[in-house]
Amino acid sequence: MSSPQPRPNVADIPPYVAGKPPAVRPGMVSYKLSSNENPYPPLPGVVEAVQQAVGQMNRYPDMGSTALYAKLAETFEVPADHLSVATGSVGLIYQLVQAFCDPGDEVVFAWRSFEAYPIAVTAAAATSVRVPLLPDGRHDLDAMAAAVTDRTKVVLVCTPNNPTGPAITQAELDAFLAQVPGHVLVVVDEAYLEFVRTDDPVDGIATYRRHDNVVLTRTFSKAYGLAGFRVGYAVAPAPIAAALRAVSLPFGVSTVAQVAAIASLERRAELLERVEALVAERTRVVEGLRERGWDVPDAQGNFVWFGLGERTADFALAADELGIVVRPFAGEGARVSIGEPEANDRLLDLATRFPR
Ligand code: PMP
Repeated sequence: MSSPQPRPNVADIPPYVAGKPPAVRPGMVSYKLSSNENPYPPLPGVVEAVQQAVGQMNRYPDMGSTALYAKLAETFEVPADHLSVATGSVGLIYQLVQAFCDPGDEVVFAWRSFEAYPIAVTAAAATSVRVPLLPDGRHDLDAMAAAVTDRTKVVLVCTPNNPTGPAITQAELDAFLAQVPGHVLVVVDEAYLEFVRTDDPVDGIATYRRHDNVVLTRTFSKAYGLAGFRVGYAVAPAPIAAALRAVSLPFGVSTVAQVAAIASLERRAELLERVEALVAERTRVVEGLRERGWDVPDAQGNFVWFGLGERTADFALAADELGIVVRPFAGEGARVSIGEPEANDRLLDLATRFPR
């Protein structure tokens, strides 16, 4: 008997491997450093605003997320019709591919990078074109520009790159954009934007204002510490933002998510101070690792990359034993989030014990 069959490409969708939760061990606190989360909980004022909104959860959310659009527009000094909010910035990646790619169209991205890229591309029956990173974990932007063909509709640039850590500079982005034809959409995935501390950081807003083919994707999950609420936003020229809104999941951003995001933007200065503390911890960790002889790439997000190759699984196991959960990428390396100082101390301890 015949049974309903999904499109053939559905079977090809790679699995998304979520970061493992901390192991529960008697007498030992274990820290989750496997999902690049913010170790700080939402601010009390954010929690309070959400608690008040919970009483309206019998109603659908404002589908237009009107107040959130207004707050984002005011905060980032962009017109509200240049914005699109979504169920996390991963929702935006799906929507971008869906809105811009026909089956067989090509999407170029660096590899290794954010694992949701090939998932979103395959789900849309488009074709992933993976351009290897440089040995130091940076994007090879010249090779990415050279990989653009007549079938290319979208290029995804992840800066800082998850999982390796380096960020691209404004000069590099400008040179790249000069090489990419104007009909190709260039997505700058700025999920970790607030953690960047380089001499020539990308100014996404100034860049999208100069280019009709540039879209920025951003999130409340990382610097703002709202990963559980699932809210991200894109900044783009009006026609691109409109296309994103057109393919968005109706009511995809819940009332509590909208309220939490607005309350966080209202407390942005305080949240950015926490980011500063995490950046200081990142500096401490990276310097500590280098002192111990680990050659880790430049870390511009809230995580550090260990290119361990075949020793990755052993490293993850040794981390588990010390009460930290890292994110292994089999045969390639391990990504470890910057967490509470105690968790970071354990990572340094692991780096001392584990043979380089
Ligand atoms: N982009 C990058 C580079 C990421 O690392 C992540 C989360 N791991 C996302 C986007 C998606 O984040 P969210 O859906 O929580 O906004």
